[in-house]
Amino acid sequence: MKKYLVAAGSNVDLGRWDTSDDGGLAEDEGRKILKTLRKQLEDYQELLYADHRHALLVVLQAMDTGGKDGTIRRVFEGVNPVGVKVASFKRPTDAELAHDYLWRVHPHTPGKGEITIFNRSHYEDVLVVRVKNLVEPNRWNRRYQQIADFERMLVEEGTTIRKFYLHISKDEQRQRLQERIDNPDKRWKFHAGDLEERQLWDDYQQAYADMLGRTSTEQAPWYVVPADRKWYRDLVVSTILVETLESLRLTYPQPDTDLSGLIVH
Ligand code: ATP
Ligand code: MG
Repeated sequence: MKKYLVAAGSNVDLGRWDTSDDGGLAEDEGRKILKTLRKQLEDYQELLYADHRHALLVVLQAMDTGGKDGTIRRVFEGVNPVGVKVASFKRPTDAELAHDYLWRVHPHTPGKGEITIFNRSHYEDVLVVRVKNLVEPNRWNRRYQQIADFERMLVEEGTTIRKFYLHISKDEQRQRLQERIDNPDKRWKFHAGDLEERQLWDDYQQAYADMLGRTSTEQAPWYVVPADRKWYRDLVVSTILVETLESLRLTYPQPDTDLSGLIVH
């Protein structure tokens, strides 16, 4: 999975990552592995909860139709819903806009034993905000460092952070938008504004590239996930999450008193 990792402080050229990469796997092979990974994730989530020393924050960012919702659905299928939360960040409300951009984010960070998935995130404040000129350049420019500082604080206080950019090609987006228009069951997902955003594809790609290079850190790394093939996208995200949970060396806590030999009457 190392090849999908964005090196800290690197100059990112998104063209380097093939959006339709399948890791050399056949789809049915990949799906089998995915099934095993799901079971592992389910077990690790329970262990994370029992261990109660770590929190896991998963950040998902993507262009429209990039597959954030599908990734959440498929990767966390089978995981006990009690231990997983999803926080979706839409256009800020007036109250949110009256505060700093991290104000609405911080209350949703995971507590010990929890996994929280950010479906879009504070990164919108250096992406859409930059592309649409919603604040002055010197303001969004300062945010890369502010975000890195915020995430460092979370990590130092016991949160593990993994960030995923779901990387699709412009043509894949065209097909997915067309499908949303043509398929009556998917039409509800289509917004006229999506076509306007698509016109800004190159600006967004540049904003993503800068953001990835400037905010991938050793402690809170970004991964560029090939996302044209949904099964491979899910496989990459699942693998990284399982490896991450594995690395925490989670354990079941010892009971306060010695329970061995105790009989319940
Ligand atoms: P889908 O992939 O299903 O369309 P979505 O995440 O795009 O889901 P939408 O309700 O379509 O959900 O879009 C949310 C919108 O909110 C996005 O266009 C996003 O750019 C915008 N948004 C999120 N955060 C901010 C922000 N801080 N400032 C301005 N716009 C934001
Ligand atoms: Mg949308």
